[in-house]
Amino acid sequence: MNHPAPPALARRPFPTELLEQLRSAFGERVSNSEAVRAHHGRDESPFDPQLPDAVVFAQSTGEVQTIVKLCARYGVPIIPYGNGSSLEGHLLAVQGGISIDLSQMNRVLSINAEDLTVTVEPGISRKQLNEALRDTGLFFPIDPGADASIGGMTATRASGTNAVRYGTMRENVLGLTAVLADGRVVKTGTRARKSSAGYDLTRLFVGSEGTLGVITEITLRLYPQPEAVSAAVCAFPSMGEAVRTVIETIQIGVPIARVEFIDSLAVRAINKHSNLTLREKHTLFFEFHGTAAGVEEQAQLVQELAAQHGGEGFEWATRPEDRSRLWNARHNAYFAMLQLKPGCRAVTTDVCVPISRLAECVIETETDLKASPLPCPIVGHVGDGNFHVAILIDPDKPEEIDEAERLNRRIVQRAIEMDGTCTGEHGVGLHKMDFLIEEHGADTIDTMRAIKHALDPHNLMNPGKIFSWAA
Ligand SMILES: Cc1cc2nc3c(=O)[nH]c(=O)nc-3n(C[C@H](O)[C@H](O)[C@H](O)COP(=O)(O)OP(=O)(O)OC[C@H]3O[C@@H](n4cnc5c(N)ncnc54)[C@H](O)[C@@H]3O)c2cc1C
Repeated sequence: MNHPAPPALARRPFPTELLEQLRSAFGERVSNSEAVRAHHGRDESPFDPQLPDAVVFAQSTGEVQTIVKLCARYGVPIIPYGNGSSLEGHLLAVQGGISIDLSQMNRVLSINAEDLTVTVEPGISRKQLNEALRDTGLFFPIDPGADASIGGMTATRASGTNAVRYGTMRENVLGLTAVLADGRVVKTGTRARKSSAGYDLTRLFVGSEGTLGVITEITLRLYPQPEAVSAAVCAFPSMGEAVRTVIETIQIGVPIARVEFIDSLAVRAINKHSNLTLREKHTLFFEFHGTAAGVEEQAQLVQELAAQHGGEGFEWATRPEDRSRLWNARHNAYFAMLQLKPGCRAVTTDVCVPISRLAECVIETETDLKASPLPCPIVGHVGDGNFHVAILIDPDKPEEIDEAERLNRRIVQRAIEMDGTCTGEHGVGLHKMDFLIEEHGADTIDTMRAIKHALDPHNLMNPGKIFSWAA
């Protein structure tokens, strides 16, 4: 593939003694086979894979500590690995090193139903967690499309379709345990719902993308399963009318649980992929949670707003199986969109703007995309002001890669000019590093760099990501 390479960084030497010592400590849970390394040296970004030197499957905080201390002794990089679903080059071993696979640390450590909290190991996936909570009447709402690990979601500050109601990982991680680059173990936060006790290290680790430490336990907020749920679909004459319906819904304070925008091209992809028969127009998917009366009232209000904006035929999905068909289709939208252009890869972009600027931002983006020869479906968690464009490229055509990067730059710069952000939820990884400086300015990045230098003075933890080591 010809996608522009991430900043050139030399691979660090990988001593054979380290491999031998890891093997003697972890036996068959250490692999340096090409296939295992290839699986761990890539993600869903359009970048070429860059393989770690070896992969270790850890089973406890103590084991992570041992691996980190050994790597620190030899100056070898460490890349924590959750489920490999990140989109911006987060996992590429740009300087080689050890990938610590946390998928075998997937236990629920404690459920405190009275306090609505749960403590888990990082490798548990969001679906596994909700399965474990099934009999408690509680659930964990954050749902990135992929079945990501809770550790990966914490490390990328992920969100998803229902962040508009329940918040993102930032609001839902109460505390965590992390192994630092020198092997020390820190615990941040408590199970209390609030605290003013010192610097908020929990928030520092949430979104740190593996660059500050390996997260080995996470305490999360839970929510009662809503008494009533209903979902609906509505098609709109234009992108602007769909988005204005959402803006007004949020501005009048409807506590909507999910509101997702899907443009007509993405609807076509979803119909084909998930065997649905939605009208191929710009569409909103809605979901309402609450008491039966509350849900009805919310739905009524939103239906009226949609009608004022030309929404055609509010169609209800009331049976649980119809709702899950709809939301499964939404969660599979990324893979559906890839099928619009056989053999393609997606350059995804994920901007987020203040809700009052959303219509303007989406409409200007649509104008740009229409003028491009590349297919560029748009989907979005628009209730948060967040939308994604999947720019579909033939990875063997440099002119398509250039065009995708040109579009990406325009979309991101527009969002930043509107007081928005270059990434609402996917994170920075390698792909958004330059935009981070544009968004925050050099002094803010220097402050982030000072924290990184203090906690990881030998640049061992996922090096080369988020911002450069040197100014
Ligand atoms: C189809 C699809 C849809 C998606 N939809 C969404 C969406 O709606 N919202 C959203 O937010 N994202 C979305 N994503 C992106 C992705 O799912 C998220 O970024 C997710 O949080 C990554 O989790 P993971 O377990 O796959 O982490 P990985 O990809 O394995 O890792 C991601 C980063 O976290 C670090 N990391 C992982 N585990 C740990 C740990 N225990 N300690 C320290 N660092 C760690 C890694 O080093 C890496 O930098 C989507 C991706 C796909 C493919």
